[in-house]
Amino acid sequence: MTKIKSEGRCHYCQQTVAKSSISRHLEGHLGKLEQEPGKSAWHLRVEAGAYYLQLLMDGNAPLKKLDAFLRDIWLECCGHMSEFTIGGAWSGQKIGMTQKAADVFHEGIKLNYVYDFGTSTELEIKAIRAHAISVKGGIQLLSRNEPLEIYCHTCKKQPATQICTVHWAEGEDCMFCDDCTEKHEEACEDAADYALMPIVNSPRMGECGYEGGAIDVERDGVFKV
Ligand SMILES: [Zn+2]
Ligand SMILES: [Zn+2]
Ligand SMILES: [Zn+2]
Ligand SMILES: [Zn+2]
Repeated sequence: MTKIKSEGRCHYCQQTVAKSSISRHLEGHLGKLEQEPGKSAWHLRVEAGAYYLQLLMDGNAPLKKLDAFLRDIWLECCGHMSEFTIGGAWSGQKIGMTQKAADVFHEGIKLNYVYDFGTSTELEIKAIRAHAISVKGGIQLLSRNEPLEIYCHTCKKQPATQICTVHWAEGEDCMFCDDCTEKHEEACEDAADYALMPIVNSPRMGECGYEGGAIDVERDGVFKV
């Protein structure tokens, strides 16, 4: 499998930057924005494969604020449980949701996050650096990957718009453009009945009842050719 390209826009200058350089790019802006002594905000990178979020989180905001943000943009389907750990997903030490960012994060630390202990989605959160900047609303989105270039698995020409979750659960190729979705429905009874879900810009795509986020929805769809 070829590695899928991942890039996103910078909140400050609107430039499109590769996933591999966006943390450093944003550090350049954040360094210049520092102005309010005493206010410490954490620059965080959240990752799951090619998907990423770059966030600025107020040091006084508790982890449950981050939990709510992740649910709103990437995860929420039917109110599953979630948890933050350090030292590995599942096996690591649990960190309480009321802990403040300033008490949890230090430079370079990595946290694991699991949403839904059944059909789970796992994320890794890395603390990049603290900055003397105030953050409106507790968390600000600085960048996220643009919709990934996922082509239809059948025709390989059109952007995929639908995913057949029955085959997805088996690890099979099952993302289709509108035309090929119709053909797939003729062959797959489950698809015709219930199993089709929209392609969305989230690592939870195709899992449980997930159909897309509640915030930043304009970047939550299918890529444009
Ligand atoms: Zn920029
Ligand atoms: Zn669910
Ligand atoms: Zn197709
Ligand atoms: Zn199917």
